[in-house]
Amino acid sequence: MTHRRYILSALACVILLSAAVHAQMYAPERDPCGYPDTTSSLYKQVASVGWGYGYDTLRYDLQQWKKSPFVVVDSIGATVQSRTMYMVTIQDTAFSFAVRTRIWIHARTHPNEVQGTWVTNEIVKILLSNTPMAKKLRDSCVFNIVPMYNPDGVELGKLRENANNIDIESNWSTTPSQPEVAVLRSMFTRLMAKENPIRIALNMHSAYGTSRYFVYHTAAGTSPLYSAMQIRFIDTVRSNFPGAIQPYTFFVSWTSTAATQYPESWFWYNHHEKVLALTYEDMNDTAAKSFDKTANAILHGIGDYLGILDRPVFVAAATRLPEGFELSQNYPNPFNPGTTIQFTLSRSERVLVTVHDLLGRRVALLTDEVMDAGMHRLQWNAASFSSGMYLYTVEAGGVRMTKALTLLR
Ligand SMILES: [Zn+2]
Repeated sequence: MTHRRYILSALACVILLSAAVHAQMYAPERDPCGYPDTTSSLYKQVASVGWGYGYDTLRYDLQQWKKSPFVVVDSIGATVQSRTMYMVTIQDTAFSFAVRTRIWIHARTHPNEVQGTWVTNEIVKILLSNTPMAKKLRDSCVFNIVPMYNPDGVELGKLRENANNIDIESNWSTTPSQPEVAVLRSMFTRLMAKENPIRIALNMHSAYGTSRYFVYHTAAGTSPLYSAMQIRFIDTVRSNFPGAIQPYTFFVSWTSTAATQYPESWFWYNHHEKVLALTYEDMNDTAAKSFDKTANAILHGIGDYLGILDRPVFVAAATRLPEGFELSQNYPNPFNPGTTIQFTLSRSERVLVTVHDLLGRRVALLTDEVMDAGMHRLQWNAASFSSGMYLYTVEAGGVRMTKALTLLR
């Protein structure tokens, strides 16, 4: 709908105009997820058993996952009906990174969108496996996963609501807030205050129909940089499951117009490009399958997006470029066990800082985030590494610079 039509409406009726503006602003935001036919026998049958994956099933799975040395399960709060909300944290703490990139995933906001849960469960399974990808992701990242954000709704056979009949996807700015919203929001706030705040946040749903897609937020509602980040991430995930996931143009949404109404817009409003926050929609349809392939594509996409998987080592002699950034020699050097890497950005950039050994194996990811212009310092604590020469690389704005540092134990 164009602005011209609003003006015509205004001439006719001011009250109708305000309703129309409201619809125009919020319609693109509306999550088209869900299940359409609430009268079918299949619907009633599946709803009565927690949509095929209830709270007890989750608690059984948590017990299984907890057997892994990489898993910690925490209670992070309680629902309206006092059910515990669980968070699964996955990482390999044996590997000592100064900064482990934090990935957030939550599922099952809308109880009937169980496919989002199944993809999430496959993500957990892959992360606990022994594949090279899983190992690299556990080494470089910490995953915080809330597999069931709305257990009351699941147990009560609700479509989209919690026990108070509130949609906890779209009531992030309502006061007083629903207990489930308050729990997630306070987790976000706590994690964003950490040394390694959330970098990628995925909100797992499923939509009626036979398409898998991410809800892309346009540059007009966010920023050109944020738009580019989303497009790169979505393209990267898609390339790992060719033909199965729609391009970013499939479902387009705004963010700034809804301020803090949704989890993604809460992230945008409070943290802008620092967090890539996206809703993923699987198929809420009997055609939905391949949850393992989708999970693999998402994880592979995360690894590729962050530059964790199969990144070639590049050694450059250059120390300074006319534009972009300046990289200083680390200090102290030689060092034991900690050293500081300092660089100066000429403009705000996404910055990746890594350390490799002389065989080209990446041994540490020090940061991967958007940083402001100016001087930055990062610490590398190499207490768990053996003596020798290592290479540290800073990448920003398409420029990559490498210097050597020496650990003397
Ligand atoms: Zn949904």
